[in-house]
Amino acid sequence: MGAGVLTRPYERRDGALWCEGVPLEAIAAAAGTPAYVYSANALRERFRALDAALAGVPHRIHYSMKANSSLGLLRVLRAEGCRADVVSGGELMRARRAGFAPDHIIFGGVGKRRDEIRAGLEAGVLLLNVESGAELDLVEAEAKAMGVVARIAFRVNPEVHVANAHEFIATGSRGHKFGIPWGDVPSVAARALASKHIEVAGLDMHVGSQLLSLAPYRDGVERLAELARGLQAQGAPLRFFDAGGGLPARYDAEEAPDLALFAEIIVPVVQQLGLELIVEPGRFVVAESGALLTRVLYRKPSGGTDFVITDAGMSELLRPSHYDAYHAIEAVRPRGGMRTVDVVGPICETGDFIARDRLMDDTVPGDLLAVHTTGAYGYVMALTYNSRPRAPEVLVDGTRWAVIARRETLDDLVRLEAETLDWKEST
Ligand SMILES: *Cc1c(COP(=O)(O)O)cnc(C)c1O
Repeated sequence: MGAGVLTRPYERRDGALWCEGVPLEAIAAAAGTPAYVYSANALRERFRALDAALAGVPHRIHYSMKANSSLGLLRVLRAEGCRADVVSGGELMRARRAGFAPDHIIFGGVGKRRDEIRAGLEAGVLLLNVESGAELDLVEAEAKAMGVVARIAFRVNPEVHVANAHEFIATGSRGHKFGIPWGDVPSVAARALASKHIEVAGLDMHVGSQLLSLAPYRDGVERLAELARGLQAQGAPLRFFDAGGGLPARYDAEEAPDLALFAEIIVPVVQQLGLELIVEPGRFVVAESGALLTRVLYRKPSGGTDFVITDAGMSELLRPSHYDAYHAIEAVRPRGGMRTVDVVGPICETGDFIARDRLMDDTVPGDLLAVHTTGAYGYVMALTYNSRPRAPEVLVDGTRWAVIARRETLDDLVRLEAETLDWKEST
């Protein structure tokens, strides 16, 4: 299950780039630009590869919806047998609309509000992932008020070291806001075990994102297993061992994750504990399925930099300016020649760029570009800054394609705003 198995859905045919059996030029002509494109078969392939790799132990794959929560994409994954991981009441609503059964949903998140906790309990989600002692109190109070037993997992901060991660995507090291601090777990667990409104059903960790080395998993799994054994000895009715997300996608020259090695690290430990394995991949499932289509508007040499100004920018793809992330860019129909340029958007911010100092296909205004590996953390982070409507999303499946989210209209941009003001008098 090494690097060769996961195919890339974007291929060149007769000089132009296609997604599966559809030319990107045809999508751009019909849907306009910018536009997000996703390959349905890339999603299926990644889900199936992970599912097969974990076959040695009872397991559940809960796709982390925050990576891309479009209903059209969720339905493809649900049809494969994939389940959902949500981090807000909004994502819970989306998961339900996409048809996920409540007990196929895990509800995590570091800052759940009371109404969100209640929505999770009312829906009957498989697990509420509790991230602090204070949240445990709130969950217990809500469960008591509703007369139910809340099935929870503790999201634990395993406090492992994650090398080479951007500081904004490491989550499971000492001093991060996520999870219950390692040293606090026994006391929080003891309170939970004493409550008749709480069922301690699982342990959860999420060490970080885009983990190019599996070492943090190995460390985290060992620590979580130690905790599981301790809780089992205290009589906790544990069922689930949740190893989180973090499997990487290929943005540049990275290798596909070694799923066999991933399984080798986790499966024996979970088997030995007699638990069911949960994983929460986000990026791994969706990132490589996606490309952002954008057109070159202008070329502008300025002060020694050669700018390519495109109709997509940080509003469509925040990762370059937020995480200094790399995304490969190529011309959909290269005209020959390469040039070192900055690819920037139309937003009035110097930080609005998709690539800097990048040697890439030479282009002229009107050319179509594909920005790769944009299926994850692309559309979900889209902004309407500068009052630019959000771009549409297109799903390709074989030789067919469909718009799964239409382009926002100018009217959409002001639909939340009051035309006449309903003034309240301060008393
Ligand atoms: C973001 C997140 C994931 C998914 O992370 P990826 O790196 O996209 O796989 C999984 N679990 C939790 C709790 C998360 O916050």
